[in-house]
Amino acid sequence: MAPPLELSTLSTLDVRERHPFAFVAERLWLDFVNGDATTRGSDALLDFERFVRWLEAAQLLDAERGAGMRRRAQQQPAGAHAVLGDARRVRAVLRSLAERGVSSHDIRTEALAEINRVLGRSAGTRRVEQQGDGTFARSFVPVGDAFAGLLIPIVESAADALILSELGRVRRCADPRCGRVFQDETKNGRRRWCDMSTCGNRAKAARHRMKLHR
Ligand SMILES: [Zn+2]
Repeated sequence: MAPPLELSTLSTLDVRERHPFAFVAERLWLDFVNGDATTRGSDALLDFERFVRWLEAAQLLDAERGAGMRRRAQQQPAGAHAVLGDARRVRAVLRSLAERGVSSHDIRTEALAEINRVLGRSAGTRRVEQQGDGTFARSFVPVGDAFAGLLIPIVESAADALILSELGRVRRCADPRCGRVFQDETKNGRRRWCDMSTCGNRAKAARHRMKLHR
């Protein structure tokens, strides 16, 4: 019998070989929303392991901290379960904010309360770190409950959307079957598709078929 693979090694390989997550939304909080079941593809919060993979794919956890999270989850399964539930709740609120926040004061208020709940619960140190490639990035090193810190960068990103009044540029993909949301950064504000290589391409092919049948 082959010896069991170490969990962290296996997961790191998996992330490299086939991570099913798309990062097409131009904003972290919207990419996070796009990991839900409304969207084509698999649920990024199916279980704690999937959540850690998403955080790694989003470059919010490096391999070392990812492995640390997995170890901690084995030691404290209840804590890992709790943060997963929390993440799902945050994601549902953020989807409402993405889809209807611009037109609903109530939804903005609810999102704000959720953002502040997450921010208020987590203690840690903010840092600026130099990456391997020489670029700089903000990071947050939690103290105490390390799980609670996992959602910080995500809600910070949503907070930025409120602070910078960006909600008017958040769109839902024009393909009703898709469900992805994104930040429209085009000059004319007319981006329609989450991704030209999938939804945009399908629409183009459909238009082409219509022309042929006319
Ligand atoms: Zn789409």
